[in-house]
Amino acid sequence: MNGSPEQYEPIDWSRLWHLQLPPKVRVFVWRWGSNILPTGGNLAKRIPEVSDECPFCGLVETQEHITRDCDWAGRIWRPSYLNKLFSMGEDQNCVSWICELLDQAKDEEICEFLITVWFIWKERNNHQFNNRKLEEWEVVERAQLYLEEYRRAQDRDLQPARSNRRYKWEKPTMGYKANVDASVLKNGGTGVGMVVRDKERKFVMAVVRRTRVTWQPEIAEA
Ligand SMILES: [Zn+2]
Repeated sequence: MNGSPEQYEPIDWSRLWHLQLPPKVRVFVWRWGSNILPTGGNLAKRIPEVSDECPFCGLVETQEHITRDCDWAGRIWRPSYLNKLFSMGEDQNCVSWICELLDQAKDEEICEFLITVWFIWKERNNHQFNNRKLEEWEVVERAQLYLEEYRRAQDRDLQPARSNRRYKWEKPTMGYKANVDASVLKNGGTGVGMVVRDKERKFVMAVVRRTRVTWQPEIAEA
């Protein structure tokens, strides 16, 4: 790919949608890849009285400028190991930059990269509208922490709801006693099991069913 803005492939959105990213980050990436972020440059094309200046340096704020070419953005990228992905984008527009990333980078790297771009945009907004400014290293650190936390939450959701559960036995006064348990399965759906014992605690029967419905762990446990 030679980086000419007029010659780029369409983005493979289906690949992006399969990355382990929070939905709001995917929506942001879609807006970024569609060049519809409300940068100064994009707004000034539609509303002439709006300034097209970058809030950090005063140059024209295109999407490429605020996420890559501005000195402020460069200071965020350069110390990071993601610098190699940042370098891929030199002289390219956002679309060809994303296409090249999808071609050459690993999924994990792409996720970290896109989360960092999102944080750069959030920090730009904080600076412009809330007059807050993080140190550059803090932007990278917060982006990484956010992604780690998101992945941990995802992993928790994929664990069985009660991996160490033991049936609690209460002796029935007469007849039979059934214990029912449910757990969220790793590959989706909910497993429901029932064990029936008689009043002497002797095993009578067991039933296991798998449902297609995925309940939240707290519902499955209830
Ligand atoms: Zn700038």
